[in-house]
Amino acid sequence: MEINNIKFNKKYGQNFIFDTNLLNAIISDANLKKDDEVLEIGTGAGTLTKIIANNCKKVVSYEIDENLKEIIFENLKEINNAKIIFKDALKEDIKNIENNFENNYSIIANLPYYITTPLILKFIQETERVNTITIMIQKEVAERLVASCNSKDYSSITVLLNFYGDVKILRNVNRKMFIPMPSVDSAIVQIELKKKYECDEKMFSNIVRASFAMRRKTIYNNLLKFLNLSKEKILKMLETCKIQPQQRAESLTIQNYVDLTKSYFDIISHKSKF
Ligand code: SAH
Repeated sequence: MEINNIKFNKKYGQNFIFDTNLLNAIISDANLKKDDEVLEIGTGAGTLTKIIANNCKKVVSYEIDENLKEIIFENLKEINNAKIIFKDALKEDIKNIENNFENNYSIIANLPYYITTPLILKFIQETERVNTITIMIQKEVAERLVASCNSKDYSSITVLLNFYGDVKILRNVNRKMFIPMPSVDSAIVQIELKKKYECDEKMFSNIVRASFAMRRKTIYNNLLKFLNLSKEKILKMLETCKIQPQQRAESLTIQNYVDLTKSYFDIISHKSKF
């Protein structure tokens, strides 16, 4: 492939992989089966798309940059189970994406870094059809996704993601493996989606976001500011869940946030005397 002829567009987070060993490692990490259906985000030059296609039933790959059309079609000319869609994956309605698949599907991607978090949230919150997500992301972001409670990396995205599934870092990848070379190292992260907690997802998400809104403020102050409940009701919620009002969001476990969500509904439905 003529790498020199590619005009890399920095604005779209284009850092491509041409190294066969790394491409094979991603496929082996993803644990692909012959009859799997796969969604890729960011086709690039199609190097990862090609190897995914060779190892599964069907791959659908979204690419925002139409200037890559020629190189993609050249690279995939012998592949007949890959469909490339030149659209913004973040803006695309999830129903349109999923119309391409017969069954539940997996996601494999060397993600454009500038939209990592919204892309992950889209596929964990807007659908229940995703089995696993295996993605290359910035190392710092990967560490945030697997952070433990009470560490400085523990944030709202950590809590949200671990509510929806199990998250692991499978390997670190040196920045030298990408063309052009980015200014940060990367890691391959795998998210296995499974239902672990029973509670209202929308409210859970609101409470987690509210709690982390101002990191240095107490859980009491954050909830008071963002939940639209009286001081008494917030204190009652915290007491029911055995959480001290002066705790900070990073000291609460996922179970704590699930309890808070349930207690919120009890309080607004007047089951509580406050
Ligand atoms: N998978 C390729 C490319 C990775 S770089 C490889 O590993 O070599 C990320 C790719 O995502 C770029 O090609 C970029 O143009 C594309 N991209 C960026 N934002 C996008 C979006 N919103 N929707 C779809 N593709 C996007």
